[in-house]
Amino acid sequence: RAEVALAALSWSLRPHCPVPAPPPTPPGGGPAGMEPSQVAIIGSGLIGRNWAMVFAAGGFKVKLYDIAQQQLTSALEYIRKQMKELEESESLKGTLSAEQQLALISTCTDLKAAVEGATFVQECTPENLELKRKIFGQLDLIADDNVILSSSTSCLLPSKVFTGLKHVKQCIVSHPVNPPYFVPLVEIVPHPETDPSTTERTYALMKQIGQSPVKLNREIEGFVLNRLQYALISEAWRLVGDGVISPTDLDLVMSDGLGMRYAFIGPLETMHLNAEGISSYCERYREGMKLVLNTFGPVPEFSGEIEEKINQAISEKIPVVPEVLGARRNWRDECLTSLAKMKKQMKSD
Ligand code: NAD
Repeated sequence: RAEVALAALSWSLRPHCPVPAPPPTPPGGGPAGMEPSQVAIIGSGLIGRNWAMVFAAGGFKVKLYDIAQQQLTSALEYIRKQMKELEESESLKGTLSAEQQLALISTCTDLKAAVEGATFVQECTPENLELKRKIFGQLDLIADDNVILSSSTSCLLPSKVFTGLKHVKQCIVSHPVNPPYFVPLVEIVPHPETDPSTTERTYALMKQIGQSPVKLNREIEGFVLNRLQYALISEAWRLVGDGVISPTDLDLVMSDGLGMRYAFIGPLETMHLNAEGISSYCERYREGMKLVLNTFGPVPEFSGEIEEKINQAISEKIPVVPEVLGARRNWRDECLTSLAKMKKQMKSD
């Protein structure tokens, strides 16, 4: 009881008025006036172009590499358009203007030239094990002993991608959430042979560029985010498949229910606040939770009649037409930008 009283007292003594902001970090991490640090992004698709924006917002020089010149051209067009729009709506990240950030980004189709001088390399090529192993094999030959070689892979285990590389100690997965510019979480997943300093440096770098990193202590299929996401998707699939609820109402349970809280607090803190702490929650709800969890069905096939039913319902609301999907994604990104602004404001209040 004394501990609880002490914790309550120290909480009530926490400053509730805005805490003075720390002095701004010089762009790119180095002391003012010095050349900004340089990163290389390998692959300029959806994720690569977003990483380029995130690093440029942090003041880093970015070399964007791709095997397809057309991809690089379209990535630069996308980045320019996005940055200008974000600047107009006062949502551009970082302290530099859109023009200053754009000036930090250059493109190239030569891997060696892309990586030369970089302290951090973020690989963003298609999710294909053989391709990624080939690319990291090439990077291994040209990397120095200091650069961090990081992959954006969503599902491939670090031990599958990096085992056997000479620079394996410098290899790590930094798994972003789409779109990384708007959703800050990054899962940092080391290979069993990754040097702890690689993990620490990657974590610090992600913090420095305004992302929200989490460290996994060991690799596991799906990492953490996708394990949680797939648990939700599979129960959603079973509930719709069993006719308990319609697909659109199912989505509403998240967007107007659980999701409202989850934008601010996780499931464990939710338990804590929904009772008088975790132990009180377990005491009240452990039997009920186990009862419900024991009724969960097997892993769905994600095909056949249920797939058709869900596809029909969601496509009625959002037809699978490029313009419609694009407009809906833009709307989603606007929502995420507003939410990010609000979260920042709530933190400083
Ligand atoms: P994408 O298909 O949009 O882009 C891939 C890019 O890589 C293309 O520009 C392509 O030209 C380029 N490329 C192909 N072969 C190459 C090579 N040998 N060298 C250099 N570039 C090459 O893919 P994406 O959605 O940006 O995904 C990239 C990675 O990020 C994947 O590993 C994916 O799993 C991961 N990821 C994706 C998401 C997502 O929602 N899209 C979320 C998190 C992580």
